[in-house]
Amino acid sequence: MNCIACASNKVDPLFSLKENSAYTVYGCHDCWLEFLYPQPDLKTLDMIYNGDYYWSRGIKDNYENVKRMKQATFSWIIDKIKKYKKEWKLLDIWCATGFFMDIAEKKWFDVYGVDISKEAVKKAQSLFWEHKVFNSSIDDFNIKDKFDVIIMTDLLEHVFDPSKTLHQVKSFLNPGGILVVLSPDAGSFSRKLMKKYRMQFKLEHLYYFTDKSILSLSQNNWYNLIYNCVWIKKINFAYLFWQSKVYKLPIISYLIKFINFILPKSLKNHNFTMKFGEKLWILQKPF
Ligand SMILES: [Zn+2]
Repeated sequence: MNCIACASNKVDPLFSLKENSAYTVYGCHDCWLEFLYPQPDLKTLDMIYNGDYYWSRGIKDNYENVKRMKQATFSWIIDKIKKYKKEWKLLDIWCATGFFMDIAEKKWFDVYGVDISKEAVKKAQSLFWEHKVFNSSIDDFNIKDKFDVIIMTDLLEHVFDPSKTLHQVKSFLNPGGILVVLSPDAGSFSRKLMKKYRMQFKLEHLYYFTDKSILSLSQNNWYNLIYNCVWIKKINFAYLFWQSKVYKLPIISYLIKFINFILPKSLKNHNFTMKFGEKLWILQKPF
């Protein structure tokens, strides 16, 4: 087996996935990319990405709170992008219910989105022009329009073949256009600390990138990697509490449950800054 990023054959099994021991996390010794093997089939993934995928993250129970929290994070991302692009046409790949599009439209002007979830697309279409949000898997998606910015938040770790996706997405970019990738970082401190108990290790995450593996993938697909930084997220205890009900973690889940119990409501919904061992990478299509 060779690494899909740097082609190294120094690839070894690290540990089996906590939620299902039929799947193993492998690591590359050269670029430190981590990946799941075997990959779950389409049917298994479809069951994960059903109508409840977004709702299980607390959106249904407290839509306004989740929206406020997510948009605070997205504002931070938009400020990063603004250093490279001032006004443009933007495509949000895996736009979910349109929180990013909503805030990006307020700051720029022309936003489009695509998502695999019918439920999420329906919601996003009710907020935006219907013809600007598409229901499609990433593999089947095609569009004649060209974009200046494409954003993929928590997406690249889900695709079967990241190199193929990067190649495909490049055809939607104008020359000089940028692709913003946000994804868990296999080189992060939290990965080293939590090991196999890290929250991001789950069946639908097929890859865990590093700076070196993203650089290799960029070069293989003729992008220039122009920027990277740690992804700073806004989070609150109400949201963490919902998450901990879906993804149970030893000790941490109990700790969150306890804090949620003793905290007054105003503090539960208060956003604070946190790092989850994820990164933001900006790749540019050459002029
Ligand atoms: Zn590698």
